[in-house]
Amino acid sequence: MDRYNLRDNIVSHEKVEDIRFGYIEDISKVDKIFTVRTNEGVHHAKTVVLATGGNPPQIPDMPVEGTEAVTHAMQLKEMPSPRVRAKLDARLSANIVVVGGGLTSAQLADLAIRRGVTKVWLLMRGPLKVKPFDVGLEWVGKFRNFEQAAFWTTDSVEERWEMIKTARNGGSITPPYKKILERHVSTGRLCLLQNTTIKEKKWDTVSKTWSVSLSGGSQTLPRIDHIYFATGVQSDFECLPFLQTMCSDYPIESCGGLPCITENMAWRDDVPLFIAGRLAALQLGPGAPNLIGARIGAERIAWSIQDVLGAKESGNDGGDAGKRRFDYLTGRGSRYDALAEVM
Ligand SMILES: Cc1cc2nc3c(=O)[nH]c(=O)nc-3n(C[C@H](O)[C@H](O)[C@H](O)COP(=O)(O)OP(=O)(O)OC[C@H]3O[C@@H](n4cnc5c(N)ncnc54)[C@H](O)[C@@H]3O)c2cc1C
Repeated sequence: MDRYNLRDNIVSHEKVEDIRFGYIEDISKVDKIFTVRTNEGVHHAKTVVLATGGNPPQIPDMPVEGTEAVTHAMQLKEMPSPRVRAKLDARLSANIVVVGGGLTSAQLADLAIRRGVTKVWLLMRGPLKVKPFDVGLEWVGKFRNFEQAAFWTTDSVEERWEMIKTARNGGSITPPYKKILERHVSTGRLCLLQNTTIKEKKWDTVSKTWSVSLSGGSQTLPRIDHIYFATGVQSDFECLPFLQTMCSDYPIESCGGLPCITENMAWRDDVPLFIAGRLAALQLGPGAPNLIGARIGAERIAWSIQDVLGAKESGNDGGDAGKRRFDYLTGRGSRYDALAEVM
């Protein structure tokens, strides 16, 4: 894999394969530190932040044959695929299936139609849900503190997990995309099938197309050239290969596949491995996989790292002046102290 450094030691394109926490003879005999092994080498750190989103995308019932004609939305490189493009260029008809009930599925269906695909079948396992945002506005709008307060004062992680599931309630699309889909349905380019799943798909090696049968069997599809899965990703930290060592050396509870991290966003009180994003939902709430969760998580983690590393390391000017500058920039204490310094 190529290695891209924006600036040495700041951003590095590497794949994390294992994380360990312990004493290391030559480097840290007194305090435990992390050893992060990647495809490029080994790094040591006093704290580690995990912001890896969800689990890697997985195609449900991944076929053995015809893998070139199935794509997960998160691995999409082009739309339509080269084979579908070649058919369209040769003025042949091409049909695709998009699976999923979220905004990504609607965007893929629309894009395919705009790029000339003859017909798109959009399959949703539940009913079409229309919402301005993928979590209820009460979780991301102006008055979100009410919901957040209720979330933070719950008695158990199970209760939090229930709140997360209720707030997200599966995939949904936005009102503007509902209109776009309706327009495509009215022109006959899109067939939207709700409460429908793929029962069976068979690959024909000669025509290089799929024969797809649906649950309920009410609809018969023509030969399908490509199937797109906009089915999201799982959040199951215990399945992540790079967390296997941490799970066995420092086991923690889980709920709904999410790690029960501490209020400080750490793996455990004695393990400063901080978790951000989707996997931190039991602390951040239903907005964890979205930008609102990223923002709140980053803030809470920055505070926690500051506590772990101590003001001395973070005040880059050193001494009182450095600490006051740090407090000013992080919004700690009284900002007037820093102003007094300037005057
Ligand atoms: C189509 C689409 C549209 C969206 N639109 C919105 C929106 O409008 N507003 C909104 O709030 N949210 C939106 N989201 C949700 C969006 O994914 C999040 O807001 C945001 O990307 C979450 O950031 P993150 O850093 O937590 O995770 P991610 O963006 O998923 O980043 C995780 C990163 O970790 C890397 N990684 C994983 N494993 C490893 C490993 N072992 N080693 C090294 N690196 C690893 C991944 O390659 C990835 O780069 C959208 C999502 C999708 C799919």
